[in-house]
Amino acid sequence: MLNVAFLGLGSIGRPMARRIKEAGFPLTVWNRTADRAASFAKEIGAKQAKTSADAARDADVIITCLSTSLDVEQVVESGLIDGLTAGATLLDCTSGDPATSKRIAARLQEKKVAFVDAPVSGGVKGANEGTLTVMCGGALPDLDRVRPVIDAFGKKIVHCGPVGSGDAVKAMNQALLALTIWGTGEALVALAKSGVSPSVALEVINASSGRSNASMNLFPERVLTRAFPRTFRLALMDKDVRIAAQIARDERVPAPLTQLVADLCTLAHTELGEEADHVEAVQVIERWAAAQIK
Ligand code: NDP
Repeated sequence: MLNVAFLGLGSIGRPMARRIKEAGFPLTVWNRTADRAASFAKEIGAKQAKTSADAARDADVIITCLSTSLDVEQVVESGLIDGLTAGATLLDCTSGDPATSKRIAARLQEKKVAFVDAPVSGGVKGANEGTLTVMCGGALPDLDRVRPVIDAFGKKIVHCGPVGSGDAVKAMNQALLALTIWGTGEALVALAKSGVSPSVALEVINASSGRSNASMNLFPERVLTRAFPRTFRLALMDKDVRIAAQIARDERVPAPLTQLVADLCTLAHTELGEEADHVEAVQVIERWAAAQIK
């Protein structure tokens, strides 16, 4: 059985770590805010480490699930690196950026530690159910070594290419998510204002060519109900879409829609704050239009 350390017990990290424990892997957890790790470790019966290096010391697989790649790099450089042993693998489930992931991978290579970027999709619900899509960048033998651990929380595991490819695919997926949330929001606010019931409109759209995850799941469950549960912060979607826009710029690919939706996410993030959920971005469109989707 591989020994696992899990660093970063945020909204999605917690259910992922819980599933790893439930699959029978010996698990040590660490979180920057130690109180969160203490209560969580107690709840699931995992060990809690005082420092990230302590967590890594006996681990074959060290999973990071932090906000950004720069946070991962900071954790690596500020102590984690001292706890890593040759032959271990750092599996980074952060939705990261390819350039920083490549830098971290090169740094870890000095210690004969492998790096695989492995961002996930499927939300907190998918993490709870163990049905996440996991997009991986790195050497295939490195991925294969840690695959049994990923199986605990992932259903579809795809090797996308070398280090950074998982991050790149994730960023573009997020740009598509943001585009469909924003586009569906504009369509439904306009329809609501023109007198069409949004639930009737969604019934049509979801049996037609304009449907998406946003129209089929997010709007019925979170917008029409006005529930707006906080599962994935708008601040993180803003970060993701800016990574996508940067990739397009770096590759000199004209991508005006991606650049626009990155700016819209930054605008909504600035207006709604750090704790707002990504779907709450729709409320910005509603404010502009002085109309609600309900
Ligand atoms: P949260 O904001 O809920 O949690 C962030 C976690 O990162 C916390 O454990 C936080 O520690 C830790 N952290 C942030 N910065 C640092 C740092 N500099 N040093 C150490 N720890 C740090 O985020 P989520 O759990 O929602 O997301 C985690 C990653 O997964 C993100 O990259 C996100 O984009 C991605 N993701 C999230 C999904 C979701 O539905 N929530 C879906 C798919 C991907 P502390 O508790 O101390 O603040």
